[in-house]
Amino acid sequence: MGKNIYFDNAATTFTHPEVVEAMMPYFTQNYGNPSSIYEIGQYNKNAIDKAREQVANLLNAESAEIFFTSGATESDNWAIKGIAESYKNKGNHIITTTIEHHAVLHTCQYLEKNGYEVTYLPVDEDGLIKIEDLKNAIKDTTILITIMFANNEIGTIQPIKEIGEIAREKGIIFHTDAVQAIGQVPVDVKDMNIDMLSLTGHKLNGPKGIGALYVKKGVRLRAFIHGGAQERRRRGGTENVPNIVGLGKAMEMAGQNMEEKNNKMLLLRNKLMQGIKEKVPYCKLNGHPEKRLPNNVNYSFQFIEGESLLIMLDMKGICASSGSACTSGSLDPSHVLLGIGLPHEIAHGSLRISLGINSTEEDVDYLLEVLPEIVQRLRDMSPLYEDFLKNN
Ligand SMILES: *Cc1c(COP(=O)(O)O)cnc(C)c1O
Repeated sequence: MGKNIYFDNAATTFTHPEVVEAMMPYFTQNYGNPSSIYEIGQYNKNAIDKAREQVANLLNAESAEIFFTSGATESDNWAIKGIAESYKNKGNHIITTTIEHHAVLHTCQYLEKNGYEVTYLPVDEDGLIKIEDLKNAIKDTTILITIMFANNEIGTIQPIKEIGEIAREKGIIFHTDAVQAIGQVPVDVKDMNIDMLSLTGHKLNGPKGIGALYVKKGVRLRAFIHGGAQERRRRGGTENVPNIVGLGKAMEMAGQNMEEKNNKMLLLRNKLMQGIKEKVPYCKLNGHPEKRLPNNVNYSFQFIEGESLLIMLDMKGICASSGSACTSGSLDPSHVLLGIGLPHEIAHGSLRISLGINSTEEDVDYLLEVLPEIVQRLRDMSPLYEDFLKNN
């Protein structure tokens, strides 16, 4: 096998060997049901309590404010539908943005079909909302503001603390999908006035199928899954103990030497951004140049198709992602790239590179070596490029 360089860490990450090691005993000897009163049951109840504390610590939350879920999709669904129902006597208006993850957008669209009103705030060309737009959108009937911490495609980080302050002033609940931010930038729910927050294990070197929802004390949130008394009667069903333990361990590890790890990541990211800008003509950075995740690079290349670019990169052993959804059977470019105002043809030629904890300078150098050649080869086959050359 040739090279295998994984630059798609915003899609998912490998499970860290230390996380796997922490999980293993809970598949075999520690299989007791945490609800049972004998020792192996209680032992597992303690393991869950410890993981809850590990998750809470990284967010500066209390353990009692953390609920385990199957991932961020469930957390987003629970937060939004739960608040919509629990606060429907107060109002039916929700504020979000046009560039949210589908777990938020499709949930909001579902609620619109059921009598709720949703405002989708636009973003500027860097992917930022305008605070003025948010203030203007608030009504007496607004019950929830749900705005993502950092965007999964273009890496832009929203002014979360300011949004939190406005929500707090107006007495509106503020939920954020912080999946991409956790472990990448400091997240402090108290300092940032966050009432609810979604996260998932597999984006931070934890296992898949486990996530959490942080719910600030005092927020009324109806149960999501009715059944047993697990998760303080809010989410029934026997706990996924190995995954919960794995999420706890991954959160703990994400918090260790975060600044040092992220400075290293920033060096790689900046080298990549600088290198692409210098070596590939007719390209454009997507997302905010500074207010962006330390692991995210997203460029559009004129005259080419992102899908072809991905295939050629794959042949060179590089895994990355594009901003068009052709693979999922649709020809529309991503709503995020359209949301920042890219024309269709530019959005189609986009590439997302997301670094991980194992990314090296060698990997970056290799990408910078092969990318310019590939882009040029694709352009040489492009009628659009031919026209462009003729006319310029
Ligand atoms: C990956 C992701 C999700 C979904 O997480 P799952 O664990 O796959 O449900 C939600 N929001 C954002 C921003 C993501 O990147």
